[in-house]
Amino acid sequence: MSFRDDGHAAVEWAASYLERVRELPVLAQVRPGELRSRLPPSAPDAPEPFADVLRDLEEVVLPAVTHWQHPRFFAYFATTAAEPAILAELLAATLNQVAFIWRTSPAATELEQVALAWLAELLGLPPGWHGHVEDTASTSTLAALAAARELRPDARAVVCSEHAHASVDKAARLLGLEVRKVPVDEAFRLRADAVDLDGACAAVATVGTTSTTSVDPVAVLAERCEAAGAWLHVDAAYAGAAMVCPEFRWAWEGIERADSVVVNAHKWLATPMDCSCLWTRRPDALRAAFSLVPEYLRTTDEVEVNLSDYGPALGRRFRALKLWAVLRCLGREGLQATIREHVRLAALFEEWVRAEPGWQVAAPRPFSVVCFRRAASDEENAAILERVNASGEAFLSHTVLDGRYVLRLAIGSYRTTEDDVRRAWDVLRAAV
Ligand code: PLP
Repeated sequence: MSFRDDGHAAVEWAASYLERVRELPVLAQVRPGELRSRLPPSAPDAPEPFADVLRDLEEVVLPAVTHWQHPRFFAYFATTAAEPAILAELLAATLNQVAFIWRTSPAATELEQVALAWLAELLGLPPGWHGHVEDTASTSTLAALAAARELRPDARAVVCSEHAHASVDKAARLLGLEVRKVPVDEAFRLRADAVDLDGACAAVATVGTTSTTSVDPVAVLAERCEAAGAWLHVDAAYAGAAMVCPEFRWAWEGIERADSVVVNAHKWLATPMDCSCLWTRRPDALRAAFSLVPEYLRTTDEVEVNLSDYGPALGRRFRALKLWAVLRCLGREGLQATIREHVRLAALFEEWVRAEPGWQVAAPRPFSVVCFRRAASDEENAAILERVNASGEAFLSHTVLDGRYVLRLAIGSYRTTEDDVRRAWDVLRAAV
């Protein structure tokens, strides 16, 4: 078989998968080790046809897939890989760009800057900020905090809320910084009055925390950071996408005074894993932290940007291609419509929970995630979640708020309909 024939078969498989994914159990119904036990312990000696790979993808691998593309995937932060971006991934692999300096990929270097400038404008970020793509928000936050440490090597603390993502702790551990956790208020927002920036090189404000999507006060923190000479990094990994709709921009009021912000296109912007967008108004600080040019990479090219100067990786994938495809093929209107629909569906679900005796809403809902629980013991709530997930009908995850076990329904798939949300609610109630 030729590349062309195999390619047609692969695209055919992808198209049929997306058509039938709704019928598959959302959470993989396998036990640990099951996939491994079905595959040989060693690679084959003789080459095998690609058709065999495709067959085993269907028969052996697919049963072990938790379907993030399923319309009733409501766990963590639900995502979508939109069709144009899936195709762009194929094309990016075809071109196989390794964009460490400009000349190794003028295309990836410049398209990344174009796509991030477009997205910055769509999200209402200030013009002129430097943007680049990292694999994940964990890496983006690591890069931002490395820049902060570079500017203030004497200050060894990072301040963030007790609800900040663990990626802040991980970055601090790698950078030799101490994390100072600030308590939150009744709506799970960082309490600015409890912030102490003495000896801190940075603060992290979260716009859309992982548990409840609460929003820290960016403007107040920006003012405090300016006064203390600390870097303000905004982690908007999930909720940053919502800023494509002006009505949500209250959530990052003061953003123009932040030093950096991360938004994951692979969370709520229809882009397949991985694509984390990091913008900064101080690219010089990122370069100071990361630029390291060995002899073999020296050139006389007169260029503004070599991507490897802005983060830990040298080689970089052509991630901008899929983001560019999403921005073009959905457009501002498509992105806005889906974000608004997800928030509408979440509001609807929240109403159903409020209206049903025996159920409670457990946190305010700024965006498309509803935190709720059965008015019962933690064990009973955990058992409900287990039953729902084991049914394969829907997949939800949990958190703990004020010491109580809480269920989360996160809407973020572009394939989710009102019927899907209704079905999840029916399955939840039946699981009691
Ligand atoms: N920040 C927030 C608020 C998150 O919710 C997450 C993950 O869900 C992250 C950062 C880490 O994201 P990534 O998996 O891209 O490192």
